[in-house]
Amino acid sequence: MKTLIENIAQLVAVPAGPLAGDVFRRPPVVENAALLIEGERIAWFGVRKDTPPHGDADVIDARGGTVVPGLIDCHTHVVYAGSRENEFEQRIGGASYIEILEAGGGIKSSVRMLRAASEDELVAQSLPRVRRMLECGVTTIEAKSGYGLSPEHEFKTLRAIRRIADETPVEMIGTYLAAHTIPPEFEGRADAYLDQMLDKALLRRLVKEGLAEFADVFCERGAFNLEQSRRFLAACKEAALRPKIHSEQITRTGATAMACELGAVSADHLECINDADIEALKRSGTIPVVLPGCSFFLGSPVAPARKLIDADLPVALATDVNPGSCTIESLPLIMSMAATMLKMTPMESLVACTANAAAALNRADSLGAIAVGHQADLLILDVPNVNRWAYNVGVNPVAKVLKAGRVVVDRS
Ligand SMILES: [Zn+2]
Repeated sequence: MKTLIENIAQLVAVPAGPLAGDVFRRPPVVENAALLIEGERIAWFGVRKDTPPHGDADVIDARGGTVVPGLIDCHTHVVYAGSRENEFEQRIGGASYIEILEAGGGIKSSVRMLRAASEDELVAQSLPRVRRMLECGVTTIEAKSGYGLSPEHEFKTLRAIRRIADETPVEMIGTYLAAHTIPPEFEGRADAYLDQMLDKALLRRLVKEGLAEFADVFCERGAFNLEQSRRFLAACKEAALRPKIHSEQITRTGATAMACELGAVSADHLECINDADIEALKRSGTIPVVLPGCSFFLGSPVAPARKLIDADLPVALATDVNPGSCTIESLPLIMSMAATMLKMTPMESLVACTANAAAALNRADSLGAIAVGHQADLLILDVPNVNRWAYNVGVNPVAKVLKAGRVVVDRS
């Protein structure tokens, strides 16, 4: 089956990631463009007048809009139970994230709510969030466990993630974040907790059932220290779960450099990194992922994204959607925040949410780009250019979403 998209005012031909330097800042743009899909893949794109013979292809009129790769949200906690608006109010009153956590709130209240929810309830609560993300143009989502914190509830979460993938067109990628925080029954015994969650048979089952591809740890005061984080990720890596890390969010722990050394696929947050950490990132293939929604939601410092980009690093951008530190589901809204808070241009944000986000999920060779042979995950936007999209903060210009060559959202 062939599909031709024509009448495209601006086609942003983001090449396969990871992208750094000039191509990150200014990816190639084709004006008056067309794009041909064969089956699930991109077969050709270029100037409209050069469109190759395409027989009885279905034709989609982009109506003078913009075409970009489908967005990839490479860091989320979108599968959770309940909500924490009471803490949102406490924080407005001056309580800090760490204070709320130490008083038994924060992640711990999400753990209580997730453990009380059945797998069906978890799917029912999370599915509408994923559907709203798709409506905003997100075609692939990484989703972490981490509110279960026992073998039973971590598996329940990862199974819920897979069920959401089965029930929506969105590609969902599971991450085992058992080391998110220390559960109450292991208070003061973090190492014993890790022993339980690093059981070899358990990790083997996770991989065999295809429930997770990545492992992640929250290296922070009140969560896991550097040594514990290293042990968790190294054991998971041995079981074929590729490491990711929450590093340098609230305090500097040295977690970024440790993760680079371990060959982590990404290091995420980075609000408190220093120059030595940037050097460590440069020496590694680890993708730096910045999450400005979290800084917005908590009113906390932002990651030095400009410095990372100017150091020729392939920065990725994600929502970090979660019930405690950022409930923002819209990746395009995060792109607008990246402009105002991180001084990233809309084009840089687009690359950070496509080619570089794909690299942060080990999928740069198939997703996140407009390249021949890449999966046809595409957005048709009812705006004449990418700048207009980020400029119209909070307005959704998505006309159509294509996943693997098929129209899965039509708002036109
Ligand atoms: Zn996170």
